[in-house]
Amino acid sequence: RVSIQGAVKKFGDTTVLDGIDLQVKAGEVAVLIGPSGAGKSTLLRCINGLERLTAGSVDIDGVRLEYRESSLNRMREHVGMVFQSFNLFPHLTALENITMAQISVSKRSKVEARDRAATLLARVGLADKAGSYPSALSGGQQQRVAIARALAMTPKLMLFDEPTSALDPELVGEVLQVMRELADEGMTMVVVTHEMRFARQVADHVVLLADGGIVEEGPPEKVLDAPESARARTFLNQIA
Ligand code: ATP
Ligand code: MG
Repeated sequence: RVSIQGAVKKFGDTTVLDGIDLQVKAGEVAVLIGPSGAGKSTLLRCINGLERLTAGSVDIDGVRLEYRESSLNRMREHVGMVFQSFNLFPHLTALENITMAQISVSKRSKVEARDRAATLLARVGLADKAGSYPSALSGGQQQRVAIARALAMTPKLMLFDEPTSALDPELVGEVLQVMRELADEGMTMVVVTHEMRFARQVADHVVLLADGGIVEEGPPEKVLDAPESARARTFLNQIA
């Protein structure tokens, strides 16, 4: 469960988030949409402490995010993030990419971490790629390894920032499928995406962000098919 209250983020004189209130219940999928520069990535980065809010608060499962090292580390064990660019270590195999953080952050043993990595690789459909280096994997495969790596930390919350927008169109489906399965298993997720079919099928909650504020939010059929504001209609027409 995520609760964001009065989130304000400024970079210098520029206000990027202007008082966002957002709740995502346990097991829910929230999809964030909105024009470029709306503050979608900034909001995700504030949820996992990569950026510090100027004002307001983020609570994850009732625990207030504080900007102390100990608090950030504890939070990062429970929040996984997947970026547009896969950010795998090029000199490590798929399996090693997934074991590394488990050993350094979660203090698991090597054997335990490797077992878990193998299980997760199978889960994202890549059991046969354990020994492959990222350069030998397609973009969709790399992104699935990145998802497995985030899951290896046993997160309670997964954040996705345009996970398919760097992929060739034919590879988008395999990544969305993994995300859909995660959602079906009850993972709490906040997803920035322009994949409207995914939003319609998987989101419990769609949030349209523009100019640092929430323009419209609600179930996908409301926000995507019957938006109330002119701002929302303009945006949806542009991406349709
Ligand atoms: P996109 O769809 O293009 O990814 P976005 O909605 O994710 O856009 P953000 O990346 O959150 O938008 O950026 C929101 C605004 O904040 C932009 O105007 C951006 O230039 C500004 N911004 C983001 N990060 C920084 C930073 N570190 N320093 C200064 N300004 C920043
Ligand atoms: Mg962004």
